[in-house]
Amino acid sequence: MDDHDKQQIGEQLEPGGRPKAPGRLELLQRFINSYNHDFPREWDRIGSKDKAKAWLLEKGLVAPHDQVSAAKAARLRELREAIRTLAIANHGGDPGARALDVIREASRVAGLRVTIDDRGRTALEAKRGGVDGAVATLLGILYETQLTGDWARMKACRECGYAFFDRSKNRSAAWCAMSICGNRTKNRAYYQRRRTSTR
Ligand SMILES: [Zn+2]
Repeated sequence: MDDHDKQQIGEQLEPGGRPKAPGRLELLQRFINSYNHDFPREWDRIGSKDKAKAWLLEKGLVAPHDQVSAAKAARLRELREAIRTLAIANHGGDPGARALDVIREASRVAGLRVTIDDRGRTALEAKRGGVDGAVATLLGILYETQLTGDWARMKACRECGYAFFDRSKNRSAAWCAMSICGNRTKNRAYYQRRRTSTR
């Protein structure tokens, strides 16, 4: 896979060629996959205020006149990593206090309200526009998909952190792609064993 293909992962291509997450969870998956730690920092789709604005605009999360400051973009990246930590915890385990604090703070600032339509159906919606509204929408998706059970299948790869939707029956998928990250993990384990056995 060349750099051009790698830069498409998380948007045009899915990690491991898997189908994307269902419904609105796809947007949250895109958010997590706006960066992969194996790649250069310049590839971060929300790596600067301008990039963050373009990404949020493309996803319909902000309006063209909304301002995205460098500080807000940094907060978004922090939130992304905290949500990635939650997706890692979906393998079993605890997300840890730091990630939870980031999400608590984000939700405190963001503001969500319950709306009701003509047929009486309720939904969570952002109270405000701008980046705060975008954060509220993303947190609303996290909430909804935890209720439906879909979130539990949103896993972050144990090796590279890409978010993928685990459709396996026993929910046991550990890597974005066995052919890439699964083998990397196995090779490392192999070399570590060899090193210890030759000592
Ligand atoms: Zn991976």
